[in-house]
Amino acid sequence: MKLTFIGATQSVTGSMTLVQDGETKLLVDAGLYQGLDAEEKLLTPLPFNPKDLSGVVITHAHLDHCGMLPRLFKLGFKGPVFCTEITSKLMRLILTDSAHLLEEKENPELQNFYDQKDVEKVFGSLHKLTLHHAHVFENLTLTLRDAGHILGATSLLLEGTKRVLFSGDLGRSDDLLLNAPEKALPDLDLIVMESTYGDRLRPKGMEAELASFLVKIKQESRTGLIASFAVARAQTLIYLMHQFYTRHPEYKVPVYVDGPMLQSANTIYTRYAHTTRDPQGLKRALTEFEMIEHYKVREHIQNKDGPQIILASSGMLSGGPVMSYLQNFMRDENVSLLLSGYQAEGTLGRALSDHQKNLKINNKPFEWRGEIEQAETFSSHADQEELINWLAENSHTPVALIHGEENAKLKLKEFLNDRECFIPKSNETRHV
Ligand SMILES: [Zn+2]
Repeated sequence: MKLTFIGATQSVTGSMTLVQDGETKLLVDAGLYQGLDAEEKLLTPLPFNPKDLSGVVITHAHLDHCGMLPRLFKLGFKGPVFCTEITSKLMRLILTDSAHLLEEKENPELQNFYDQKDVEKVFGSLHKLTLHHAHVFENLTLTLRDAGHILGATSLLLEGTKRVLFSGDLGRSDDLLLNAPEKALPDLDLIVMESTYGDRLRPKGMEAELASFLVKIKQESRTGLIASFAVARAQTLIYLMHQFYTRHPEYKVPVYVDGPMLQSANTIYTRYAHTTRDPQGLKRALTEFEMIEHYKVREHIQNKDGPQIILASSGMLSGGPVMSYLQNFMRDENVSLLLSGYQAEGTLGRALSDHQKNLKINNKPFEWRGEIEQAETFSSHADQEELINWLAENSHTPVALIHGEENAKLKLKEFLNDRECFIPKSNETRHV
């Protein structure tokens, strides 16, 4: 068996590994590059011909794991795409949004990168897999396992001439909503593992951090604007807010939720609530707060004094209804902006969190006078301790570290010094 590590080797984005076993060529994840030099990387030719691929497995619906799928179809791929049913539903939202964002690019090559027709081709080739059910595909057997992280996220056990486990992105062990990731299996030939938090422990206390924000909004009668990714992070925040207000009704304020994609993701989280740790609690939470369906309601909220909370996408302030709130509230010192997720370099969210000046939205000057908070504890990734624990039942299998910054991988490698551990370079091939 031969593995070529294509994406997420030098960073945490663009996850993609090619597995060749005999005649079978299987791609594990087909992630889009995001971030500063993403455009250049996207336009670099792939090191394989998509027409030659036998199939693709998608571990979960984040864009950096599935965003290249429509591109593969555009370039002639015709094989099956394997993933869980939940991943397929979330992926439709993510890929449709991605096709729209590409249409708006200035670079004509990116405008033509893929479109909605290519997105539809993905869903014509989908094969849904059930967790723990082994599926034979050519000379490989595919088995998906629960990885926590976001709804529908999986690790992949691949069995052919060798047995290899791909962690996918691993979730937290103490996530209130999602299951802890299933531990690595013993006696494998290789584990390919993510290492986002390989160099550090995540500061604990997501619930406490959110609670202190909610308390301040009530006590100081402010407007709290929470910028959130539409899929996964928003549903976690809605769940945690509902939990907090149920325990502390004295701090309750009107909460509004805005974003069409966010609302579609809510519907999917409701439908599959039974796969979480608290199905009833999640379902209740997702119907608790007012959804903004009409711009007139948005205008009304924008002219209303606090206390109130508005949860709106997008998470990095790169589009979506949050932009309208930002422009409307920018001179209001009584508004607190909470950035609830990672802010990539080059985004308005990052600029605000770095307190940069002379910013613009739609070529108009933008100066934020209210408070800005960057959440420190909100993450859907396992930290260093959890990564090491994930491996605990498997003491000898070699590990390939991907999906982490250089330092994270090197630090984690130090901790795994009792076993063979390597950090593949981009496009490096390894025989297992
Ligand atoms: Zn992910």
